[in-house]
Amino acid sequence: MKRFPLRVKITLWFTSALLIVVLFTFISVLSVSNRILQKTIRDNLIETVENNFDEIIFYPDISKLDLNEKSGHFLKFETGYLEVDDDFLDEVNQVYTSIYSSEHVLLYGENPVSLSTDDVKFTDSRIRTVKIDGTNYYIFDRKLTSKGLENLWIRGIVSEEQGAVQMTSIARLSLILLPVVVIISCLGGYNIVKRTLKPIQEISETARHIGEENDLKKRIELGEGNDELHRLADTFNDMFEKLDLNFETQHRFISDASHELRTPMSVISAQCEFSLETDRSPEEYEKAFRVIDRQSKKVSKMINDMLDFTRLESNPDRYAFEELDMTELVSSLCEDLALIGEKGIKLEYDVRQGVRFNGNRELLSRLIANLVVNAYRYGKEDGHIWVELKTHNGKIILSVKDDGIGIKKEEQEKIFERFYQSDASRTGAGSGLGLSMASEIARFHGGEITVESEPEKGSTFTLILNL
Ligand code: ADP
Repeated sequence: MKRFPLRVKITLWFTSALLIVVLFTFISVLSVSNRILQKTIRDNLIETVENNFDEIIFYPDISKLDLNEKSGHFLKFETGYLEVDDDFLDEVNQVYTSIYSSEHVLLYGENPVSLSTDDVKFTDSRIRTVKIDGTNYYIFDRKLTSKGLENLWIRGIVSEEQGAVQMTSIARLSLILLPVVVIISCLGGYNIVKRTLKPIQEISETARHIGEENDLKKRIELGEGNDELHRLADTFNDMFEKLDLNFETQHRFISDASHELRTPMSVISAQCEFSLETDRSPEEYEKAFRVIDRQSKKVSKMINDMLDFTRLESNPDRYAFEELDMTELVSSLCEDLALIGEKGIKLEYDVRQGVRFNGNRELLSRLIANLVVNAYRYGKEDGHIWVELKTHNGKIILSVKDDGIGIKKEEQEKIFERFYQSDASRTGAGSGLGLSMASEIARFHGGEITVESEPEKGSTFTLILNL
């Protein structure tokens, strides 16, 4: 059974169930029909005998009768005559009725079998079954009660097999019809199951194709529909979509990371070769070590940033949310960051009191620090940085403004991409991951970061969070 396809198993199962139900119904119908039929035969027998009961009259002296007025059969009986009316039915629907004397002498009517009346004693108004030559017969007797008829009996007899003939035709018809019904339902059921399971086949074939060909672009196509299987296919397609997107993102991330790491690594390698080639002056060694130090710090920063990125994407649960005092968070960060004081740049901050937000302290601190460090990095000598925290229309607005080198219009969207660095900043200590990490953190908190900038005038980065 295990090796049969599902559609065969389902069809076999419900065909067997159908067969059992059909057989049960067939047997019940036959038994009920048989009982009804036998009861009808018996009722018929009683009714025929009872009807004939009143069709017999006794005349002590026939000579006084005008026989022209009478219709019927006259039989000599004891000292007079019996008149058996024309309405007396001696054979109707295979029910035979006959008149007997109390000495068991057949006076009138027919008897279908050689029934010895000695064997079957007369019993008034009680139906009985007797077996004669292997056949069952119903017998019903009535003792006549009218004056002069006290010694007479009417006996009705009918074969039980009369019903058996009809039962046989019912059974024969059922035996032809039932297998036809079962075969038709079996074939119909098989077709329906096959059609119902076709989407599952399509789903498994698509999954197999994706597995074998590594083709995450392939989708399950079931056409229009809103049943469980269509919904299952939609769920699978959504999953494939996400896998494809993740796969592409990972792929791009790895190739961008390798590309970005190659430059500092080549510089380090070149500096090492230069130093080992021949004896160099202490100044040359020092210069080479400085380059190696700067580039290895860059590589190390890049690797740390990449790790942070991966952690945020693959395990966001480790960054639990808590009720944060944003006023305190921004103020204390600005206080610390003001100490950087690079290029004589001054940091000023204006922070609204009592701003609270549900978020992750570590990530939001990283975001704000990234924006402020960038403002230093791309700021001018003796420039300024202004940090402002306010609320407006149910939103928290944090802006970091500088009067530094600014960003060209065409670069303003690209700076949020991973590893993007403007040509001018490529040689610096940055990794090109700071802003993309910042906007990832903003998204993680249901917010966003925007930028407004003008080259040579400065930039404003704004973080918007929903309260
Ligand atoms: P990086 O580590 O290079 O700073 P980021 O992702 O933080 O990487 O920034 C991407 C690029 O955006 C930078 O290389 C720089 O060109 C530009 N940028 C970011 N912040 C500023 C700013 N405050 N002023 C001017 N340019 C900026």
